[in-house]
Amino acid sequence: MNEFRQDMISGLWVLFATNRARRPGDPIVCEALDKSKDVCPFEDLEISGNKVEKTYLNKSGDDWLVKVISNKYPAVDRSKTTREPKQIKADFFNVVEAGGYHEVFVFRNHDKVLADYNSDEMAEVFGVYRDRFHHVVDNTSSKYILVFTNYGIKAGGTLFHPHSQIISTSVIPLSAQNSLRDAEDYFVKNSQKPYDKMIEWEISEAKRIIYENEDFVAFCPFVSRVPYEIRIFPKDSTSHFWKTDDSKLPDLGRAVSTVLGKMSKALKYPDYNFFIHSAPVYDKSDKFDDYYTWHIEIMPKVEFVGGFEIGSGVYINAIDPDEAAKLFRETEI
Ligand SMILES: [Zn+2]
Repeated sequence: MNEFRQDMISGLWVLFATNRARRPGDPIVCEALDKSKDVCPFEDLEISGNKVEKTYLNKSGDDWLVKVISNKYPAVDRSKTTREPKQIKADFFNVVEAGGYHEVFVFRNHDKVLADYNSDEMAEVFGVYRDRFHHVVDNTSSKYILVFTNYGIKAGGTLFHPHSQIISTSVIPLSAQNSLRDAEDYFVKNSQKPYDKMIEWEISEAKRIIYENEDFVAFCPFVSRVPYEIRIFPKDSTSHFWKTDDSKLPDLGRAVSTVLGKMSKALKYPDYNFFIHSAPVYDKSDKFDDYYTWHIEIMPKVEFVGGFEIGSGVYINAIDPDEAAKLFRETEI
């Protein structure tokens, strides 16, 4: 079963993907992931039964950099991708088919974690994310696309081998919908993009800036939800990540490589999630540029989320983002 069910009171969507289930009673593995190549299904994709959708070569063209494979246990069903998701049930609860792409970016090197990629390598990685994102935009009628990485068990990772994922969905997640609506409201009231205002404010305050170059700025947000949270924004204020121009990739590679490297060194390689928030793709024009800016969020897992956060939706953060940013600025890589 791959279906979205919407809570008719909160508006939240839950994606049911029962093909991904553990057997009842199977424990969640809590130790570190097995780093051995011998047990790694990504060492030989053919033997492990993975279908390679696309191979990206490195810049010199002498080896592959990333292979994109279909997820063997997809959360969404590609054969059911439609613009308006097929309604399965609409009496009391809204239930729709979960169609979309679910692919995995497998990186060549088993032993090299993403945080150790240099600026040029990271620019190549983000070029691959962008191209595959663009491919999904062109080939599905999905409304929303997310690229994300789960590094380590505490971040939901199940394999050590470095990899990222992309999922496209026919519904817009409630958090994305709320951000867009609130950003548009701010724009209508103030004739300015809230993201531009926030970035201007962070740059003028300076305390939480970790890194900045001509095209990108990275900081620990004033309202960080978790300790050591980082966001990276493009200065050109565009809303669709997949439209990022080649000329911006070197600066993007420098920004991500620098902050991910600093974060990992300062916090001793913690588990983390990162994801790219980009405008929904049901409208491919630049209309969202008026009030939305795509960005990267990095969320290290140094604390567990507890009952208060889950029960109230309010995060308790014990680390002042000013101090987090200072630590990262002072960490040499
Ligand atoms: Zn491997």
